[in-house]
Amino acid sequence: MDSHSTPKTPVTLLGLGDMGTALARAWLAAGHPLTVWNRTPEKARPLVGEGARAAATPSEAVASAAGPVVVCLLDDASVGETLSGTELHGRDVVNLTTNTPDQAERRARWARERGARFLDGGIMAIPPMIGRPDTGGYVFYSGDHELFERHREALTVPAGVKFVGEEPGHAALYDVALLSAMTGMFAGITHAFALMGPEKDIDRARFATLLTEWLGGMAGAAHGIAAQLESGDYTEGVGSNLAMMAAANETLLATAQGRSVDPRLLTPFMELMRHRVDQGHGDEGLAGTIGLLRAE
Ligand code: NDP
Repeated sequence: MDSHSTPKTPVTLLGLGDMGTALARAWLAAGHPLTVWNRTPEKARPLVGEGARAAATPSEAVASAAGPVVVCLLDDASVGETLSGTELHGRDVVNLTTNTPDQAERRARWARERGARFLDGGIMAIPPMIGRPDTGGYVFYSGDHELFERHREALTVPAGVKFVGEEPGHAALYDVALLSAMTGMFAGITHAFALMGPEKDIDRARFATLLTEWLGGMAGAAHGIAAQLESGDYTEGVGSNLAMMAAANETLLATAQGRSVDPRLLTPFMELMRHRVDQGHGDEGLAGTIGLLRAE
């Protein structure tokens, strides 16, 4: 540190799996004093060589924390196991372990009952994207907003940050919603490649480019759905209505059958569209199908 630089917030990190190790290296590279702990202590050794301090136990790590205590473990159970013997009173806990919204809410309550402030995070990146702002990775945060602002500078080091509300479960909710949408997209890509088959004369690299461009363009439909959900008018601004899409689905299914491709990745959604049309809503866009999924 030169005489002009401001001191960097010390960070305590529990968990040195693939993600934890990437986080650790990003903070070390940015000059943050870093204390690490991992259940398997060997994983801390290379980081100690790079300037980290290794704590022997989670209790020791938490007790000596002078900044955020970042937890990046396998799952919520391992977070409970790791933090249960520590003195959390007065600590700032930032949980970057993937969890469900309910687990995040419960863990926030659990931490607050022990006198800690709590922020939950959902990492929208894989380890090679950490510490690389050019890759577009970021972390959703929710929970204690004051805590988020206090540590914003340190939290921004590994990846971009998006605060999504004071409800501790919201980061997990946003995270899982995006991953769920991605799962549907991958299902579509899988089906598309199955349709193209093993034919030698198909240029798969070119097809992948076409797929990418098409999906990128179609993803913009999310804005129309959001506007319809907001207004309550599911026919508003509809480009392709459900009746048309349901009719086109028959062509998609017939083509799959003709090429001996199992349509199972598509049929549940197609059935949902058909159901909404049969209810008399063929003039709507997709927004009306959402209510069919929710048990309210
Ligand atoms: P790893 O499987 O590489 O590491 C798991 C970590 O959890 C290790 O530090 C492991 O310790 C520790 N751990 C497991 N069980 C326990 C336990 N009972 N008590 C204490 N420590 C335990 O996972 P990642 O580092 O990749 O992931 C960490 C979190 O980050 C997960 O919640 C994951 O979903 C999330 N994440 C990961 C991404 C990725 O691409 N890797 C992307 C986005 C989020 P030990 O070394 O001793 O086994």
